[in-house]
Amino acid sequence: MICLGVEATAHTFGVGIVTDKGKVLANVLDTYRPPEGWGIEPMKAAQHHEEVAEKLLQKALKEAKVDLSEIGLIAYSQGPGLPPCLYKGLEFCKKLAGDLKLPLIGVNHCIAHIEIGKLTTKARDPVTLYVSGANTQVIAFVGGKYRIFGETQDIGIGNALDKLGRDLGIGFPAGPKVEQLAKKGKWIELPYVVKGMDLSFSGIVSEAARRVKKGTSKEDVCFSFQESAFAMLTEVTERAMAHTGKKEVLLTGGVAANQRLRDMLSIMAKERGDKFYVCPKEYCGDCGANIAWLGIVSHKAEVKEKEHEIKPRQRTDDVEVTWT
Ligand code: AMP
Ligand code: MG
Repeated sequence: MICLGVEATAHTFGVGIVTDKGKVLANVLDTYRPPEGWGIEPMKAAQHHEEVAEKLLQKALKEAKVDLSEIGLIAYSQGPGLPPCLYKGLEFCKKLAGDLKLPLIGVNHCIAHIEIGKLTTKARDPVTLYVSGANTQVIAFVGGKYRIFGETQDIGIGNALDKLGRDLGIGFPAGPKVEQLAKKGKWIELPYVVKGMDLSFSGIVSEAARRVKKGTSKEDVCFSFQESAFAMLTEVTERAMAHTGKKEVLLTGGVAANQRLRDMLSIMAKERGDKFYVCPKEYCGDCGANIAWLGIVSHKAEVKEKEHEIKPRQRTDDVEVTWT
């Protein structure tokens, strides 16, 4: 069985084609980029998705060397996400599934990140740190569900880095540039905000911007921002490991590209005698392969959907997990 999955929760429209053995045959995507200095406008992103959808479908089929008639299942990203974007994805998949008379299944975007991470790293039952532009969550499977043990109370760490980037005038996405500048920086104290198991990044961004205005070098601000923010993430992840007794950490999301964050988590895991895994780069970001693989996993577990609908505010622990 081959599944075609469509990602459309936010800025990215992606089409992935994956076999039931977990082989990714195609993974193509196109990302909406707002004008410099602007955030995502949901309607504009949705319009982008509509414009690229058909072209990406054809590209994916070509890359996978499969015909539409060989597809056995269609999966769509159901939530969480921006309603207009989610809706475009659902509409596209509904039509495709209808035309081809195929089963259609909606899957959770965050769980899709975890499942592709497990597939590609062979981690079995990890505590996952999912760090992207909009999301920052520490998730583990406990009591039949993927539960969120800690998360950001305001912005995601990726958006925090991008906001810092705007204040420093280093362009978007800022993560990689902050990482480079940090290599030449020294420590200054910045806010460190962990409340219980939750995190907050807006204070550290404001303070960093204030320090830059007052003349602290970009290098020092970037170094200290990374040290503070990544230590916060590592602290909460470690507490989730201790609490759940799990022996594996899985890092995923766009910010997983950062070597300093990888190093901190890897040291933490090593000191505990636990294992550290990073999702391969091509599946760390939002993409159709993630959605297609969770479609396969859900289908194998005989997950049935009463109604095909978008769930913009769906949380990982809203999803009944019967496959693990
Ligand atoms: P995603 O939302 O998963 O596509 O991830 C995008 C986010 O990852 C953006 O906010 C980027 O700034 C961030 N990012 C990409 N590369 C790096 C890096 N090397 N270090 C830190 N953040 C990064
Ligand atoms: Mg994502």
